[in-house]
Amino acid sequence: MPERWDVVVIGAGPAGLTAAEVAGSHGLRCLCIDRLAPGGELINLGRLHDYPDGPPETTGTDLAATLSDAAIAAGVELGFGEVSELQRGEDWRVVTGDETHRARAVIVATGLAPGSLGVADEERFEGLGLSHCASCDGPLYRGDSVVVAGAGRWAIQDAIDLAGLAGRVALICPDEAGLPSGERAAKLAELPNVTVTAGRIVGLEGADGLEAVIVERGAREKRPARAVFVQSNRRAALGFAADVLAMDALGRARVDGDLCTSDPRAYAAGDVRAGAPEQIASAIADGQRAGLAVARLLKGKEGAE
Ligand SMILES: Cc1cc2nc3c(=O)[nH]c(=O)nc-3n(C[C@H](O)[C@H](O)[C@H](O)COP(=O)(O)OP(=O)(O)OC[C@H]3O[C@@H](n4cnc5c(N)ncnc54)[C@H](O)[C@@H]3O)c2cc1C
Repeated sequence: MPERWDVVVIGAGPAGLTAAEVAGSHGLRCLCIDRLAPGGELINLGRLHDYPDGPPETTGTDLAATLSDAAIAAGVELGFGEVSELQRGEDWRVVTGDETHRARAVIVATGLAPGSLGVADEERFEGLGLSHCASCDGPLYRGDSVVVAGAGRWAIQDAIDLAGLAGRVALICPDEAGLPSGERAAKLAELPNVTVTAGRIVGLEGADGLEAVIVERGAREKRPARAVFVQSNRRAALGFAADVLAMDALGRARVDGDLCTSDPRAYAAGDVRAGAPEQIASAIADGQRAGLAVARLLKGKEGAE
């Protein structure tokens, strides 16, 4: 018989680690499980932007360590495994490759899956010029021409950060998203080695590594590039829960004000839930709300104060 937990948190990014810490500190037996090392997107981040807490030089890995330590100190067990299925029953069954965990309640905090261009040969260029992490792989392309695909604020931030390393940076924004605006876009406009274009990447070219991207904007044009950093088409990582949780048009979990999903014993926190602002501070705040809501559900109001 699989072990029975009070709560299993799926995903150990800032939202999941915080939710687990709050659940653990309320005396709940909590497993927080991730397919990778704890920290989520934080592991890929150097200096943090728009994050109000801590000294300005705090990095993503510093914060990941702080949040993991706090969860462990609250009695949370950190587990390793990719959840492939979430089964509803008297207890939830959280299925990974070789194990099944039972839980009275679950908190889904699996964030967004890496982006994709949706072009042929995309996989062939993984690690050979196609990257999802500018702060990890950017230094490999010092002085080169690189492309950032996407239009969200973290794509723009990637372009700004890469401008200090690469020779030329082209930010290619999907037509439907339009060109960026706001404070970050103004900063981008001041950088002499950055261009911003609305268009769609429709092909990748190169023999042993990326040499060019093909951009469609009215006509097709070939742009030399040694790397493309993909931030477009990021979807919620929720395939394992497709049959049990209601989702919005973008595939994110629908939640109420307490972050409760369409099932009263399942909560969603962080980037995976509908309407998330895609920001660390919001993911942590979500984790606190979801952890507290689960404590109230399982221990009653007094036990959760
Ligand atoms: C390039 C970039 C730069 C950014 N910079 C900043 C910044 O400077 N400041 C800021 O405030 N925000 C920034 N963000 C946004 C911020 O990183 C996210 O909003 C935040 O990490 C969301 O936290 P989360 O816990 O919801 O999800 P995540 O951090 O994505 O964590 C989700 C976790 O779930 C795990 N997981 C997924 N699927 C499964 C599965 N099936 N089974 C088990 N585990 C699974 C993943 O491995 C991951 O560890 C940036 C984002 C990007 C992409």
